[in-house]
Amino acid sequence: MALEQYNKKRRFDRTPEPEGKIERRAQQRFVVQKHRASHLHYDFRLEMNGVLKSWAVPKGPSLDPSQKRLAMQVEDHPVSYFQFEGKIPEGNYGAGTVMVWDIGTWEPLGDADEMLAKGDLKFRLRGKKLNGAFVLAKMRSRRPGSKGTEWLLIKKKDEAMQPDFDIDKLDFSALTNKSLNRIAGDERSAEWESNRKRPVLKGAEWLFEDGKKAGQEPLRSKSARKSTTAKKSKTGKRRSAA
Ligand code: MN
Repeated sequence: MALEQYNKKRRFDRTPEPEGKIERRAQQRFVVQKHRASHLHYDFRLEMNGVLKSWAVPKGPSLDPSQKRLAMQVEDHPVSYFQFEGKIPEGNYGAGTVMVWDIGTWEPLGDADEMLAKGDLKFRLRGKKLNGAFVLAKMRSRRPGSKGTEWLLIKKKDEAMQPDFDIDKLDFSALTNKSLNRIAGDERSAEWESNRKRPVLKGAEWLFEDGKKAGQEPLRSKSARKSTTAKKSKTGKRRSAA
């Protein structure tokens, strides 16, 4: 099962991250999360075959085609991770602060499964910060001691490129506008499990309007929340029994 490794690394009674389940509805969204763990990095995730294919990008993606960014492929993440912003408590895998740095949709430029298997994934992004054509290219020459998980994330030349792109100037959440420091110091951001209403930036609501269980989706729109009110008690029961 694609999410086995994700689930194995985490204890869901100790981390606010969602438990991994395969999503049946196929969509093509992407998310980039800024993650301050032991080292600051960005997690680049593409929704594909019911999971989020994931790469850790130490320097983050760039809109500058001359900046080839190392991207280490990591375990698939559940689609519900898409909107995780908050703190992973000390002592847990990946402990630190997570920001939803960019969100949007992606479009493969060819057969996605084939390109992924070949290690030459070409795609176009439509996000709030990242746009245009990119390629994720698996590195063939493996250094001694390498795990064979090294890819390069490269911006293709097009109208969306920005040769002077500086990711450090974009320290704000695509969902809440908060800086990483503000998320780190804001206890409310960590309340993944609660049904607490959290603000979603205007224009981002549509990304969260598909059918997921109440309580797993604190960022959903009002109308979507209403339609699953009946499921709430069931979800609550399961959680208190866990
Ligand atoms: Mn990470």
